[in-house]
Amino acid sequence: MRVRNKPWAKDYVAEHPDKMVEQPETLLGNWQSRFPSEQPLFVEIGTGKGQFIVEMARQHPDRNFIGIEIQFSVIAAALKKVVASELTNIQLVHTDGEAINTFFAAGEVAGLYLNFSDPWPKKRHTKRRLTSPVFLAHYADVLQPKGSLQFKTDNRGLFEYSLGSLNNFGMVFDGVWLDLHAATDGVEDIQTEYEQKFSAKGPIYQVIAHFPT
Ligand code: SAM
Repeated sequence: MRVRNKPWAKDYVAEHPDKMVEQPETLLGNWQSRFPSEQPLFVEIGTGKGQFIVEMARQHPDRNFIGIEIQFSVIAAALKKVVASELTNIQLVHTDGEAINTFFAAGEVAGLYLNFSDPWPKKRHTKRRLTSPVFLAHYADVLQPKGSLQFKTDNRGLFEYSLGSLNNFGMVFDGVWLDLHAATDGVEDIQTEYEQKFSAKGPIYQVIAHFPT
């Protein structure tokens, strides 16, 4: 996602330290202290401008949510949505999601979401894909037993790669959708910004899986 530098972003973020964390390592094992109620913690990596995570927080008041985003200008836009929502069960983290196991303790996370992750189509960039083994190993560290990894994308190449990567890692598949928007099984689909933009061009793929216990 390309975003122009936003001159207002730095001041806006500085004004909302209660909603956004910039040094996540300081909260290792203690994320519930950022929320009014202790509730299962769900995390999205690559949260973009925040539409998905804010709507999830609105629809699931009995859960706590964290959106992680690496680009400062992008997460500043998400922060605006979080503040406007007045929801208290959502926090944002400005950092690289690859280091997730340095700021969440073992078993601290109930579920992980990856939505429309950057495809990194060149072979030499495979390790940067959010479903590569490097990332999966870190997810396995932080997810509670049977905690879910939910991944959706419009990119068929990335989806095929991800199915192989999760399978090679020994993950157990709970569901695979080859056309999520045509699904009739009642599966939840809170749409992201990218999903709204690109779903007219072809199917949306989704997989939900968990690590073996
Ligand atoms: N999930 C949003 C959606 O579906 O509308 C945004 C999708 S956009 C293609 C991918 C986002 O992931 C970008 O905002 C990018 O900055 C972020 N991202 C990529 N790698 C990341 C990483 N390692 N850690 C955190 N965010 C990352």
